[in-house]
Amino acid sequence: MLRSIAEVAVNVPLLRLFHYRVPSELAERLELGHRVLVPFGRQTTTGICVGFPEQSQVTVLKPIREILHPDCRFDAHLLQLTRWIAEYYRASWGEVLEAALPPSIRAGKEERAIRVVSAARPSDELLSEGMRLATRAPVQSRLLTFLARNRGPIQQAELLKHAVATPEALHKLVEKGWAIVEEVRGLSPSAADRNASEFEALSGAGKVDLHEGQRTALATIRSAIFAQEFKAILVHGVTGSGKTEVYLRALRDVLAAGKRGLVLVPEISLTPQTVLRFRNGLEGAPVAVLHSMLTGTERAREWRQIQEGRAGVVIGVRSSIFAPIPDLGLIVVDEEHDSSYKQESSPRYNARDVAVMRASMLKIPVILGSATPSLESLHNAQTGKYGLAHMPLRATSHGLPTVVTVPLDGKFYRPDGSGLITDQLDMFVRSRLKRKEQVLLFLNRRGFATYLHCTRCGLVLKCAECDITLTFHKSQDALRCHYCGHSRAVPPDCPDCSMPGIRRTGVGTEKLTAELERRYPEARIARLDRDTASSNNAMRTTIGAFSRGEVDILVGTQMVAKGHDFPQVTLVGIVSADTGLNFPDFRAAERTFQVITQVSGRAGRGAKSGHVIIQTFFSEHFAVRCAATGDFDEFARRELEFRKALGYPPFGRLVKILLQGPVEESVAQEAKDTAEILREKCEGCRLLGPAPSPITKIQGKFRHQILLKSASARALHRTIDHLGNRRPQKRSAVERIIDVDPQSML
Ligand code: ADP
Ligand code: ZN
Repeated sequence: MLRSIAEVAVNVPLLRLFHYRVPSELAERLELGHRVLVPFGRQTTTGICVGFPEQSQVTVLKPIREILHPDCRFDAHLLQLTRWIAEYYRASWGEVLEAALPPSIRAGKEERAIRVVSAARPSDELLSEGMRLATRAPVQSRLLTFLARNRGPIQQAELLKHAVATPEALHKLVEKGWAIVEEVRGLSPSAADRNASEFEALSGAGKVDLHEGQRTALATIRSAIFAQEFKAILVHGVTGSGKTEVYLRALRDVLAAGKRGLVLVPEISLTPQTVLRFRNGLEGAPVAVLHSMLTGTERAREWRQIQEGRAGVVIGVRSSIFAPIPDLGLIVVDEEHDSSYKQESSPRYNARDVAVMRASMLKIPVILGSATPSLESLHNAQTGKYGLAHMPLRATSHGLPTVVTVPLDGKFYRPDGSGLITDQLDMFVRSRLKRKEQVLLFLNRRGFATYLHCTRCGLVLKCAECDITLTFHKSQDALRCHYCGHSRAVPPDCPDCSMPGIRRTGVGTEKLTAELERRYPEARIARLDRDTASSNNAMRTTIGAFSRGEVDILVGTQMVAKGHDFPQVTLVGIVSADTGLNFPDFRAAERTFQVITQVSGRAGRGAKSGHVIIQTFFSEHFAVRCAATGDFDEFARRELEFRKALGYPPFGRLVKILLQGPVEESVAQEAKDTAEILREKCEGCRLLGPAPSPITKIQGKFRHQILLKSASARALHRTIDHLGNRRPQKRSAVERIIDVDPQSML
């Protein structure tokens, strides 16, 4: 039977599907999941064919114009998954499908040939030549070392990036017969099959004897793999407990059973070392890597190969959850607590949660791994919804670092920055510099919100209703709760200890770097944060220089916190552990605990033992104390108590409704109207707000928000249903954003 009508999920922000006529010349070719070009209003846009209805209410149907790249189409499973995402996260299905495509397919570009480099001699020869050239030709030396270690062909662009090298240096090596450059089309080397024997010589990969925690974890995962059933398993293992080894073995089981695997990692952790480790540990199985550093064309190529089943394992960041992997047998989400799994633009999905849904649709296991599991996942494990494997000890003999907590006082905020380094930290830094060991200094200053804080007793002013830090608003000279809108005047002195002149606070990495340069003029200091690492290249360069020992002190924000393995670092200084603690966000304590734990995990990974100095105004805060002593259980117990009392996740679900626009009055009015509709209809949920968002204005748009809270996801969804498709457009361009399970309260 020829299909004459197609149902299309059009790439527009509308929550409904549209019918089109299938012209006879396309009727035989058009299939479910194809991307098509369709007329929409007066324009032409794209969409995905999601159904073939027998008839349509619409009498005059417009025709589909054409099928775009027919070889890339969504299979039934991905259609089902994206539909769930659209419904759950309140996005248009067409937009979700569009977001699931790699960017160059979206843009419709063609693939080009790529250059691939391979070594022309055995790796030990490359290494010794690399050593010989180390001082005379450092760039060639780096290339040789990289090629020797990489074992197998690599894209030229990738090689030059990782080895921080120029095409000229590579060309010299080719001329001297050390390397070969070839042009290939299609199969990229990362997904190419490799000779398994190459991997045998690799140090220890797959050869270590699993310790007891790993064995138990693997047994739990294996039974789910063999039972071919859905099961989510939380692998809670301290940093260095050997979680990756567990993932690798589970993936090898899946490969041996003729299936494939998907590994999600946070953007920051997708480093060449990580990829290499998976390649080595998977004994030559073809691995495809999807990350945002690939160009659109590279990503499209990988995509096509994945779809053809040529990659045994796919590793990637958030959006890789959409990778069209046939016969998927296992999904791994590493650092499952990481907030970068949540997309902060539409569709606002959380890749970790989508991974669990994908696994359940496919009846396969999903592993969620972390040293600091999210309380949501922990709760699911505690209530038996997820399996739990616990690995409380490091796999290797290096113990966890020694942690020293140093209380801060008013000097910290001296305007000249001289108080940022306490005497204790200064002493430790000097001794490391003298011993030529490396120092990592961490300052999370993604702060924008100013809060009031007593430098004597440590009190921070909070909202009595919400237990959320009050934010200082300069324009109104008042304090305000960003959850419920409650506002109060700034007290002249501390309500607790009556110290006069309670303070507003805020510091940054730039000031810190200047202070370090003043104190340690002989040290080589580098800074890594969102300002300095505007490009991935800058980040690689800095990280590379630090790994090679060309930098003594690295100062940074989150970017230095995760995943990196710098064996020469023996001192980690957390300059202020508290900058995140007073964010007006109910996850503030959880994030603080996670970040201190992650940063501390960077110390003492090499031969020498490590120290961590935590400078803090809140040495008695349980998040700081538990992170310093490595007591996750106690942290979780306290934090869960607080969440339960106030109905926050994991005991309740949240939906954030954000209204934004250029005119504040309209935004406020719209927020009020929306809240009224919701309040009238809301059953089984609580409504908080409307209130101005903590970040009151972004890119010229004022923001107000409403928070819906309920123990039942269904009740929340039923309540939002009442907003329907009604769009708040009568007043000057107010936009309404619905964020289900928000990660950011800001
Ligand atoms: P995690 O991912 O939990 O932080 P890793 O998997 O990176 O931990 O393991 C940390 C280190 O311990 C790695 O160098 C790894 O090779 C090593 N390792 C893992 N499992 C074992 C084991 N059973 N015996 C010895 N060393 C191990
Ligand atoms: Zn409040």
